[in-house]
Amino acid sequence: MDSREFRNAMGRFATGVTVITTNDGAGAHGMTANAFMSISLEPKLITISIDNKANMLNKIKAAGQYAVNFLSDEQQDISMNFAGQKKKEDGVDFDFIQGIPVIKDSLASIVCDVDQEIVVGDHTLFIGRVLDVELTEGNPLTFYCGKYGNYRQKECV
Ligand code: FAD
Ligand code: NAD
Repeated sequence: MDSREFRNAMGRFATGVTVITTNDGAGAHGMTANAFMSISLEPKLITISIDNKANMLNKIKAAGQYAVNFLSDEQQDISMNFAGQKKKEDGVDFDFIQGIPVIKDSLASIVCDVDQEIVVGDHTLFIGRVLDVELTEGNPLTFYCGKYGNYRQKECV
């Protein structure tokens, strides 16, 4: 099986879109990601999967902390900015939770300390121990078959 066929198959799993944010001391850095999973309630753990060639890799290693920001359907421009697809000309607004940069107006921002780092193939999993979360109302941005979309429902209660 070639990589295109693998990606076409994986692309049929509809996901939300996140931006991972961190600060290694050189300022806020963000990266768009859809490889996200909630993995444990007690303790509260999540994971992300970062390409070993991504600039984000060494920044999270140095910071020992990161945030995951779930984007709303009004934030496609932010996803494109942090995927290197299209620069957002008017810049990106960051807030801070416990000193960790987060994307303003995300549906949820989850900040965590790195608990474990596991190299798996050409990616590295960063298991995060959750420190805090912040929530906003809105509808999620989705990613399906390589394309952005949206999903509308009643309020998330
Ligand atoms: P760079 O390429 O250095 O940064 C990414 C972009 O963010 C650049 O354009 C940069 O200018 C901008 N940027 C960074 N910090 C700031 C700032 N402070 N202010 C303004 N702009 C800033 N890759 C994975 O490894 N794992 C995934 O799960 C994953 N999922 C993806 C899901 C989707 C829907 C898409 C579109 C891409 C996904 N990618 C994923 C690919 C990944 O987003 C790109 O390869 C990305 O460019 C790699 O980022 P980087 O850390 O190497 O940083
Ligand atoms: P695509 O067709 O490349 O992505 C479809 C699906 O394939 C993704 O949702 C993901 O599950 C999987 N995938 C793609 N690249 C992967 C990789 N390098 N490692 C593991 N899984 C991967 O969609 P697209 O619109 O062409 O994506 C835009 C860019 O973002 C591409 O360069 C793609 O490689 C990258 N991307 C990377 C990841 C990742 O590293 N986990 C995830 C999504 C997209």
